[in-house]
Amino acid sequence: MNYISTRNKKIIKTPSEAILQGISEDGGLFVPEKLPKLNESIDKLIGKSYKDLAFTIMKYFFTDFTEDELKNCIDLAYDQKFDREEIVPVVKKDGVFFLELFHGPTLAFKDMALSILPHLLNTALKKLAIDKEILILTATSGDTGKAALEGFGNVDNIKIMVFYPQDGVSEIQKLQMLTHQGDNTCVVGIYGNFDDAQNGVKELFNDRNFNNELADINILLSSANSINIGRLVPQIVYYFYGYLNILETNEIRSGEKINIVVPTGNFGNILAAYYAKNMGLPVNKLICASNENNVLTDFFNTGIYDIRRDFKMTSSPSMDILISSNLERLLFEISNRKDELTKELVNNLKIDKKYSISPAMKENLKDFYGGFANEKKVEESIGQLFKTTDYLIDTHTSVAYSVYKDYREKLQDDTKTLIASTASPFKFGASVGRALGIEELEDDFEILYELAKLSHLEIPKNIQDLKNKDIIHNNICEKNEMQSMVVKFLS
Ligand SMILES: *Cc1c(COP(=O)(O)O)cnc(C)c1O
Repeated sequence: MNYISTRNKKIIKTPSEAILQGISEDGGLFVPEKLPKLNESIDKLIGKSYKDLAFTIMKYFFTDFTEDELKNCIDLAYDQKFDREEIVPVVKKDGVFFLELFHGPTLAFKDMALSILPHLLNTALKKLAIDKEILILTATSGDTGKAALEGFGNVDNIKIMVFYPQDGVSEIQKLQMLTHQGDNTCVVGIYGNFDDAQNGVKELFNDRNFNNELADINILLSSANSINIGRLVPQIVYYFYGYLNILETNEIRSGEKINIVVPTGNFGNILAAYYAKNMGLPVNKLICASNENNVLTDFFNTGIYDIRRDFKMTSSPSMDILISSNLERLLFEISNRKDELTKELVNNLKIDKKYSISPAMKENLKDFYGGFANEKKVEESIGQLFKTTDYLIDTHTSVAYSVYKDYREKLQDDTKTLIASTASPFKFGASVGRALGIEELEDDFEILYELAKLSHLEIPKNIQDLKNKDIIHNNICEKNEMQSMVVKFLS
């Protein structure tokens, strides 16, 4: 199966080429030539380990990898880096199923894909017999950065640079990145928000001259953001895994549909759920949960995507995004794969800061429900769930849980529901602590100790260790200086 650009179907790549390139040369995103359908019964997948299931799903997408190559990548990814043998536990609380995607090394769901992407990329590099060095450029709203550093750090032939909004990430997220060791890594704060970082990185990808200069010194750019299909595909796996878990415990009948709720920023994680549905996973509604940066909520309700509004900094910083890149892939699907139209819409966004879709396209959005939760609600929901069930969730997961509670009440829908739980509560300790009534303390670590005491949970070791690590990276730049930071790092 090949991949095509959302802006020009005539650009065709093999899976390896698409992974390696990250983004298409015309600025479009790579999508499968045809969305694959599962050709085996879902019931037959019951009992598979996470790794076996990962192979079953990913083989539909990475068709130029041999069985050994793909299995090897999977083995290297889903191992003891995860603190649970099942990799993704499913926990039932308040009648809902929480899909705990945060048991990897950096305690957020980004590990699910970024622990395998480096191996996919390295395999692709070998298959295509390219003897260039890869430079991964990444924009992060906080979690991708550390997960990418963890995945790509100390991998041969790969260098990685991470740009994060200087004032837009949690204290723990910042410490995780700034203390990261590894000669092939560079972390840079920018004076700007995530959208600025992401736009800057995309511009570098699309800058012909710059790419040619890099080619002269034997360097090829690639991406670790969810614009890379090598990151999106591994995220499809856990929706099947979650469904099978619910099925296995007889909470649903064979073929019964579930709702999936995803706390959304760049639209990568929920797009993976949409792909899973297209493959044949029985899904009723895909519930897209936003924080106060509720562009997507408005989009699902009105068919208008309009970023002419204030960017808000919230307690769920990894979702503080106005331009959700992966929505481009959805536009391509709901327009029945019209590349010209997709290109026109994203161009409108660039020029007019908004676009609107046709009624026919909007009709194709009926699988989705969009909602948002304000800061007060997010805080209250953490407290309420903990009080009634002793279960502690982070702020991002609380956005999803809050939106779901509204949905359940409003639509009286009792379909069984799976919530993507995207981060450990300890990663956003200050906000979670506040929700539980822990008083503000100067030192974030003091709050974590209190949180641990109250919840009877252990502070994850990778967070405890941060306290004694040295700051290694101290680069900050203006948003128009990103290119020169890259040049500086390479020299
Ligand atoms: C990245 C992130 C999200 C948003 O995921 P997208 O794929 O960008 O929509 C939600 N929660 C957490 C904790 C994240 O790190």
